[in-house]
Order: sequence, then structure tokens, then C-alpha cells
Amino acid sequence: MYKLTDPSEIRRLMTKYGKNFKKSLGQNFLTDEEVLDDIIRCSEIKKGDLVLEIGPGIGVLTCKLAGTGAEVTAVEIDDTLLPILAETLADFDNVNVINADFMKLTLNDIFKGKASENRKIKVAANLPYYITTPILMRLLESRSVISSITVMVQKEVAERLTAQSGNADCGAISLAVQYRAKAEIVRVVPSKSFMPAPKVDSAVVKLTILDEPAVKVSDEKLFFRLIKGGFAVRRKTLQNSLLVGAGIPKEKTLAALTELGLSPTVRGEALSLKDYADLTEYFKKIL
Ligand code: SAM
Repeated sequence: MYKLTDPSEIRRLMTKYGKNFKKSLGQNFLTDEEVLDDIIRCSEIKKGDLVLEIGPGIGVLTCKLAGTGAEVTAVEIDDTLLPILAETLADFDNVNVINADFMKLTLNDIFKGKASENRKIKVAANLPYYITTPILMRLLESRSVISSITVMVQKEVAERLTAQSGNADCGAISLAVQYRAKAEIVRVVPSKSFMPAPKVDSAVVKLTILDEPAVKVSDEKLFFRLIKGGFAVRRKTLQNSLLVGAGIPKEKTLAALTELGLSPTVRGEALSLKDYADLTEYFKKIL
């Protein structure tokens, strides 16, 4: 058995295979056993579950996931890690490693029809930080076949993902998360829990996907256009922000705000998810 949280073991494997850490791919490997155990406990992964890991690295989390008896698929972009993974995962027959850029695959490419509304995927990963938001947006868009997403992200991203309307951390991604999931910060993780240590602290976040979106909207495309537009210009009124970010004339936004009983000077970041849903229904009729 490998002790993959031990820095000297990581160094030994990296040297054996002539491998260097690729900073550009966000390669900061977890060296904290307690954090790994927390990820496994919070993700509630059990035998037979379908599990997706994005970025297995040298396999520290992958081994723990496989140890639960789940069916694990790990997608790793860096082919120089494959020989290490072949060694560290050799004892498991319930892990499949795919060498690819996660952003170029669909969940159907990865699970080949195995995942469905009756057999949903649990995602668990220590995400590469340069691409956290696009990965999460992609996963949230596939919510019908995902039951939960338990991931390590930068601490400030974790705060954004879990922020409520009106909070300074709240952004378009916060509302996208609220729409589709219940989000909680499981724990904060200091930078010294990684090798090499990143410059910032991290946090484990769990997103539990809702069976139905938190609010009803008849046009999701317009809903997300308004949310993005509403946060396009910070500390400006919604009228300004929707003009710049969504190309909606100010007089139309003013009419919508009046109709919904909201202040004409309200800012985009002060609106709730329900306000954006109401705006969507109004604009759908007049745009
Ligand atoms: N899971 C390991 C751990 O916890 O120590 C490694 C986590 S490390 C923060 C992120 C991993 O994601 C690296 O192995 C990196 O090569 C991989 N990665 C980066 N971009 C990726 C992408 N677009 N698709 C798949 N894997 C990617």
C-alpha cells in the first residue's frame, strides 16, 4: 500500500518516473490524510456508486474513492502521470483512468450511458484551480445525472459559490449554484496541506444537486443572460448593468423594475434568485 499523502513518497514516485509538477495544470497534490477522509465522508460515497474524479494526479484521492468499492472514473489531462497512476492504482479493478481534457468530454463520453436519472454520478475531486468555474458550470449543466459534487477549490471561490444575494462575495456563479444545488463549505484547508503549497488557502465545498431547480423559469437561456448581465458592472444600477452586460435598453429595465415593485436604482447584486426569475418572465414577454 502506498502512503500517497507522504511528501517523501510523492517525491520518490515523481523521481522514479522523471516527472515534475506542472504549475500550469494546477498540480498541487493533497498531503493531508484528515482532509481526504473528510472528502470521502462528506461525499457519502458507497459501494457500487458511480463516481467521477477530475484530475487524479498521482492517485491520492482516487485510492480512497476506490477503497469504498465505488465504480470510479478519473479523468486526467497529463499523460506523464499515467505510469504513476498505473502503479498506484494497480490493486484496484474498480477504477478507470481516462487520459483527456475534462472540458472536451461530455458525461456520456465518460460513462457511456451508465449514468442516468436512476443511477446518478457523485463527483469528488481536488480541482485544478485555473479552471474551477468552467468545470463547475459544466457539471451543473449536467445536473440531471449528478447527485452531488464534493470538491476542493480556492477558499475565496468556495465563499463565492456559497454566497447569498446582497453579500459582497455573491456573483453570477453563486446564483447559478443556488438555482441548481444546496451549497455548503465542508471545511477550510490550509495551503500547507498540499505539495507544492499553493499561495492561497482552500476549502472543500459540497453541492447537493436539487431534484428540481430552486425557482421556476420558462426560459433558462434568458434567465442566465439576465444573471450574467446583472453582475456585469459591479456597484452600478441594474439598469446600467443590464445595458452593458445584456444589451437591454434602460427604459425596458426600468419598466420591469416598476412592474415587479423593485427600486429603479437597485443593483444587480442585490436581487435574489426569485427576482431574476420574475425578471425573466417579464422580459420574455417584451424582448
Ligand atoms: N487529485 C490529486 C490530489 O488531490 O492530489 C491532484 C489534484 S491537482 C489540484 C489537479 C489535477 O487536475 C492535476 O493532476 C492536473 O494534471 C489535473 N488537470 C488539470 N487540468 C485538467 C483538465 N482540463 N482535465 C483533467 N484533468 C486536469
